[in-house]
Amino acid sequence: MFSNINKIREEFPILSKIIYSKPLVYFDNAATAQKPKSVINQINYMYSEVNGNIHRAPHKLSNDATALYEESRDKIRAFINAKYREEIIFTSGTTGAINTIAGSLSKSILKRGDSVILSELEHHSNIVPWQLIGQEYGINIKVLSVDINGNLDVDSLSGLIDNSVKLVSVTHISNVTGLINPIEKIVEICHNRGVKVLIDGAQGIVHSDVDVQKIDCDFYVFSGHKLYGPTGIGVMYGKKELLDEMPPWMGGGDMIESVSFEKTTYAPLPLKFEAGTSNFISAAAMGQAIDFVQSLDKNFVNKHDRLIVEYLTEKLRSINGLTIYGDNPSNKIPLFSFTIEGTHPSDIATLMDKMGIALRSGRLCAEPLMHKFNIDGVVRASLLIYNTIEEAEYFIESLKRAVNILSK
Ligand code: PMP
Repeated sequence: MFSNINKIREEFPILSKIIYSKPLVYFDNAATAQKPKSVINQINYMYSEVNGNIHRAPHKLSNDATALYEESRDKIRAFINAKYREEIIFTSGTTGAINTIAGSLSKSILKRGDSVILSELEHHSNIVPWQLIGQEYGINIKVLSVDINGNLDVDSLSGLIDNSVKLVSVTHISNVTGLINPIEKIVEICHNRGVKVLIDGAQGIVHSDVDVQKIDCDFYVFSGHKLYGPTGIGVMYGKKELLDEMPPWMGGGDMIESVSFEKTTYAPLPLKFEAGTSNFISAAAMGQAIDFVQSLDKNFVNKHDRLIVEYLTEKLRSINGLTIYGDNPSNKIPLFSFTIEGTHPSDIATLMDKMGIALRSGRLCAEPLMHKFNIDGVVRASLLIYNTIEEAEYFIESLKRAVNILSK
């Protein structure tokens, strides 16, 4: 059990990197997390020792790779407490999962004239796939608004639901504000009206204990790379009875039962949604990422997150002209998006990079929310368990220096 940040940091080789003669301070974790040695070693091990295409061949390499791939599916099932292993579908990431769901629903549950409700908080990957099917299949998008503080207007959800609404697709935790949405309440409202719910868990899976049976959502999707895992792998959880009803989205090898030019039948779940050679190396290494998360002492993680959120809230609030978007420390992960009067977000992030601090700037793939806040972009600092309070102090000091330089 890890309950010591220095010990945790030792697991992450990249964290001892020097950038422009300064120790790296990596505060861009909402974009992608760094990887522990166990994940890196597993990738190396797979390519060196067990690289054989899964589910296909009778040889040992294929069998061993298949076992690791399927073992990882089992770990993920247990991690999010899904009822059946068949409910865990490997995709390329959150984006891949949402596109798969949108594509498949457009050929099943969603009919011309139906609607999908999205929120103003959404990442582009939970907007554009719905627009793509909307244009092609005549499906409308309705928008659940947020207030100026970034809180979802859940009270108005019920009023937005009419007979045309078949699905609500919302983020668990915003990648812009870091605020946690009341997803269980949203699911309850929707299910009372017979509406399905998709939760974008790209940030949620990293910062909360996800129990899909307790949440009762119909779909929960996330990416491996934000959860200490490799890139190119993600998870689409869906309730079995729903996934069984849905047609496959991509066709190819591994997802079929039999093929002829007259008629093709599909493999049962989960393979029905895993056409072609999936990223089995990354999928297998996701197992190590899950092991790493489970090796963290939960109380320690919660205390650490609280400390960082409270410290940064207080310090950022005290900087003149600085606005935090989603300034509600009691309902927030250690993620801060802000602007500072008289400075441009990209200038701040570029200067801070020269001080060794990796930040994100811009619209964060959430342009509708930027419009709502009436801004053109933000600076974002997002922290994880391996980030220290000393790094947070250095970040605040450096931010003040950057503001001074830019306002001269
Ligand atoms: N949704 C949210 C809330 C995100 O933060 C992100 C990644 N920034 C995504 C979706 C897309 O994830 P990916 O690019 O890994 O598919």
